Parts: sequence; structure tokens; C-alpha cells
Amino acid sequence: HAKAAGRNTYQMFTKEMHTAARQRLAIENSLRSAVTNDEFVLHYQPQLDPATGKLLGFEALVRWQSPDNGLVYPDRFIPVAEETGMILEIGRRVFEMACQQAARWRDAGYPSVRIAVNLSARQLRQPDLPEMLSGIMKECGADPEMIELEVTESMTMERPVESIRILGALKAMGIGLAIDDFGTGYSSLSYLKLFPVDKLKIDRSFVKDIEVDPDDAAIASATIAMAHTLGKKVVAEGVESQAQLDFLVQHGCDIIQGYFYSKPLAVEEAEQYLARHAQSGTV
Ligand code: C2E
Ligand code: MG
Ligand code: MG
Ligand code: MG
Repeated sequence: HAKAAGRNTYQMFTKEMHTAARQRLAIENSLRSAVTNDEFVLHYQPQLDPATGKLLGFEALVRWQSPDNGLVYPDRFIPVAEETGMILEIGRRVFEMACQQAARWRDAGYPSVRIAVNLSARQLRQPDLPEMLSGIMKECGADPEMIELEVTESMTMERPVESIRILGALKAMGIGLAIDDFGTGYSSLSYLKLFPVDKLKIDRSFVKDIEVDPDDAAIASATIAMAHTLGKKVVAEGVESQAQLDFLVQHGCDIIQGYFYSKPLAVEEAEQYLARHAQSGTV
């Protein structure tokens, strides 16, 4: 009896694995045509100074507008893109769209609005990354001061020496730099000191229970204090409630991003958001 059950379990397992592999292959194939047909769009999530209500900029978040599956979120396709190397082409297109948007917003009279763009691990390891990004900015007529790059803590710590060199080159071009998902990796504080980054982004997982979980509260407030000591600003992501906002403001968090202010917005909505802030003098 036990043996039969075991065999059934085994069969189910292989069947599931087979299905997963097929699904994965299907995603891979349609992702390839998405690159060819340029099916990616950016949504923009506002980042605000909680003290003044000033709109400081937006994080650009990629979505795949698939003819078969509708709007597909990055968690569903970025890992596949990363494994297959397609992320390099997608990442280039994302950066280009962000630069075009930055140029449009500057021309519309908002030169202080920044656009933060996420980089993947593979992009960071491209030896010619700074030259490539510089080329795209020139083509789009975008100012490096309007662009910020987000790299995760884990991808920088994987190859810290190499990361310091590349980040240094990007910084020298005038691009802003932020460490994303801070607190989820294993930072060496001695390296952190050497990373030429302007901001740390406290990961959403610490913000979630910040007013009820003393550990999360301690991690968040220690991160803010440490970042300030190192001369860096702090962004909190995933801020959904007034209570979370109050805690972060009380502990000196500089910049807030999250559903409490706004979800990521399609470009027309982001433009309306920007226009509303311009009207009230908070851009
Ligand atoms: P991330 O860079 O940490 O981005 C923050 C994620 O948190 C976004 O998810 C955003 O929509 C979500 N978020 C923001 N505020 C809230 C909130 O108040 N509550 C909740 N529950 N969620 C919130 P999204 O857009 O699904 O992106 C997921 C991840 O995909 C990003 O995490 C980033 O790692 C990656 N990603 C997004 N765009 C790109 C891209 O252009 N290139 C690369 N390489 N990765 C990207
Ligand atoms: Mg990010
Ligand atoms: Mg983040
Ligand atoms: Mg995160």
C-alpha cells in the first residue's frame, strides 16, 4: 500500500515537473517574440518627500503587455529573462524608455523629477555597461542627473570589488545610485562604506509590520541611522498605511514610495499626477 502511494506521488511529481518545464518553455518562447515586437511598457511609481509632500521622482517598473496574457508583472518574466540572457536586451529597452520619458519631462518643465531604473545582475556584470548607458542617454537627449539606477544589495555583494568599479564609473557620469531591497542580502558594512551610492532602499518586507514587529522596527530605524552616518539618503518602499508612514518619518526616513501615496501608474496617469503636483507647487 505504502509502495503504491509512493509510486503515485512519484508519478504526480514528474507530471508536475513536466508541466512546469512546458510552461517555462512557453514563457521563454513568447518572451523572445515580446523582445522582437517590443511589448514592454513602463509604469511609474511616485516617490515623495514626506515632510513637504514634494514629488521627487518615480521608479520605473517594467510590465509586459502580452497579446496572449494581458499585462504581465516582472516577477513572472524577469527571472526567465535573466536566465536566458534576454534581460540584456529588455534592460536596454527599459533604460531607453526611461531616458525618453526623462527628456520629455525635462522639456515639459520638470527637470528636477528623477526616474529610477532597476538593473539586473547580468547588466551590472556587462563590462561596457557605462558606455552603453551613456550612449542611450545621448541618443535620447536625457540628462544623467534625472536618472537613477537601482541595484540590489545581493547583486553588488556577489562581486563587491567589480561592483565598486562599475558603480564608480556610473556615478562619475552623473547618474544617481540606490541600493535596492536593502536588508534582504548580506551586506558587509566595510564594503557598503565603499559603494559610491546615494541612497538605500529599505525593503518592503521590513516596512510591512513596522509598527507591530519590534525586530522590523529596529532594522528599519538602524538602517536609517547608519545610512545617514554614511551620508546616504533612505527610501522606504511598500509604504501602505499612515502608521507605517508615521514611524518612518519619526525615524528620519527621507523618501517614501508605496501604495499609501500611489500605485505604479501608466505613463498618462503619471503625467496627470505630475501635473497635479505642479499645480500645487510640490514638484
Ligand atoms: P522592486 O524594485 O523592489 O520594486 C518594488 C515593487 O514593490 C514593485 O513591484 C512595486 O509595484 C511594489 N510595490 C510598491 N509599493 C508597494 C506597496 O505599497 N505595497 C505592495 N504590496 N507592493 C508595492 P513590481 O512592479 O511587481 O516589480 C517587482 C520587481 O521586479 C521589482 O522589485 C524589481 O526587482 C523587478 N523589476 C521591475 N522592473 C524592472 C526592470 O525594469 N528591470 C529589472 N531588472 N527588474 C525590474
Ligand atoms: Mg527597485
Ligand atoms: Mg525595491
Ligand atoms: Mg523590493
